[in-house]
Amino acid sequence: MIFLDAAATTPVRRQVLDAMWPYLTGEFGNPSSHHALGNAAATALAGARASVAAVLGCRPGEVVFTSGGTEADNLALKGIALARQAARPELDRVVISAVEHPAVEESARYLERFHGFAVDVVPVDATGRVTPEALAAVLRPETALVSVMYANNEVGTVQPIAALAELAHAHGIPFHTDAVQAAGWLPLDVRALGVDAMSISGHKLGAPKGCGLLFVRSRTRLEPLVHGGGQERGRRSGTENVAGAVGMATALTLAQGRQAEQQGRVAALRDGFIDAVLSGVPGAVLTGHPTERLPSIASFCFPGTSGEAVLLELERQGIVCSSGSACAAGSDAPSPVLTALGLPAAVAQTAVRFSFDASVTRDDLAAAAAAVRTAVAGVQSLGTH
Ligand code: PLP
Repeated sequence: MIFLDAAATTPVRRQVLDAMWPYLTGEFGNPSSHHALGNAAATALAGARASVAAVLGCRPGEVVFTSGGTEADNLALKGIALARQAARPELDRVVISAVEHPAVEESARYLERFHGFAVDVVPVDATGRVTPEALAAVLRPETALVSVMYANNEVGTVQPIAALAELAHAHGIPFHTDAVQAAGWLPLDVRALGVDAMSISGHKLGAPKGCGLLFVRSRTRLEPLVHGGGQERGRRSGTENVAGAVGMATALTLAQGRQAEQQGRVAALRDGFIDAVLSGVPGAVLTGHPTERLPSIASFCFPGTSGEAVLLELERQGIVCSSGSACAAGSDAPSPVLTALGLPAAVAQTAVRFSFDASVTRDDLAAAAAAVRTAVAGVQSLGTH
């Protein structure tokens, strides 16, 4: 099997598991306990926080460990918007892009349903980019928060985050970015990006599912969503997932340490794969931005097929990929991301996403490109769509 669905999840890396192991077994203490076992756990947690802070270029106290990317997005959207509204009731709008993950989109919709916020959706161009002009057009004096993802999970388009954050700040508005797909591939220095909050998930990086983090700038007020014993400086109560935090920090440090090198190598492999698919499959369309895209995602539409049928045929040939985001899998509705790019629903339904981790090889992608040619031709000739 060739696994080309790394944007959905990745296996736990050996070094990550080794780093976590002591805190799942002998060093199993609760970081809040005042005895040696508890102190050891607290020290491990502090070490994980410091490692993450070193990667992000922030202070350790600005890192909140969460149960994953979804919780980090919820905490950013709801936590910042509600804290701002509590201080200034006239702030009752949030801005999100048209291509956000449901964790951001649904958090904004919750604010709309239960807290009287209006949601302004900034459109993207045909490549999936939010331009500063498009963002400027939706900012209002009542905007409490702007959230635009760093890189898209379905088409891989990378946003001009520093420019967008600067624009939001020029209007006095805090800026959050969902960097779940960007982590490991793109620079994550939060000062250079200029973001006030940034979400990261462990399982996209070789850490286990169920661990993630939110960077929140120290001056940014945040209303907690999970109340209890006041862990994570009161921003996220609950006994900390010490092993998860250690795993997350280890995975992030390993991935970002090789980020620049991996970015170039994998981007070159991705470009070769894209060329092979576009030249080998008549009618194939690359979705997303031609160059401003994650090294790890190649996404296409194959008009005249069904994405699900192509996917099944590819799996039969040993190639595992996705028809869109894992979250939308199984749903018949065309992807809202692809329709936001202006693709007709009938074309959006033919989407197939190939996503890689750093272990991908030229041979993997050559085999995948050959399989795509026969799978698409097979589906078209059988008319199985
Ligand atoms: N944001 C993006 C862009 C994602 O791709 C994902 C996962 O698919 C998430 C958020 C959610 O992260 P998690 O699976 O850790 O909850």
